Amino acid sequence: MANALELTWENLESAVRDCRRCVLCRERTNTVVGRGSRTAPLMFVGEGPGRQEDEQGLPFVGAAGQLLDVALASLSFGEEDYYIANVVKCRPPGNRTPQPAEAQACLGFLRAQFSLIRPSIIVCLGAVAHTNLVSAEESITRARGKWIEKKGIWFMSTFHPAALLRDESKKLPFWQDLKAVKQKLEEVKAARKAQADQKQGQL
Ligand code: SF4
Repeated sequence: MANALELTWENLESAVRDCRRCVLCRERTNTVVGRGSRTAPLMFVGEGPGRQEDEQGLPFVGAAGQLLDVALASLSFGEEDYYIANVVKCRPPGNRTPQPAEAQACLGFLRAQFSLIRPSIIVCLGAVAHTNLVSAEESITRARGKWIEKKGIWFMSTFHPAALLRDESKKLPFWQDLKAVKQKLEEVKAARKAQADQKQGQL
């Protein structure tokens, strides 16, 4: 966040609600911070709110979000396993792609969410998240499904679920990527548990 306020969820949500750092504030109904477990080992990061998300103030509640929820449930991801957010917190008019300057203006809020949640895995859903968090050089089609470790966090990029609604051929690779994420999640959870057990044993 831009100011020196203590980093808490309350301060973050209030700063997002009051934010006028980019033009996307002009047409928003609600800001959209995120949903899911705030202690999750895994974060999904999408692009920005659509119409339904803007109306409800929650991310991934439209058709693409429902598709993601079904895929996660069918791979037995638990609700405590993940948190979902977007690169920009206000709806781009007509669901256009956020401009690079808008993404840059908003990234501080996403970084604050990373600091609060401290995820071990971050999955970028689509090109906007991939470009801003992993690599601006490699396209999402080439980069998807690969793991990159940065500062102790595992990153993977895959297609945005909305792309699957437009192009059926993306469903299989997306499914394969989520399966790999589930496997990594189980490894991370086992490592976190071993660490907690070790700490407990030292008490
Ligand atoms: Fe602020 Fe982000 Fe909304 Fe732009 S998109 S007005 S930076 S909260």
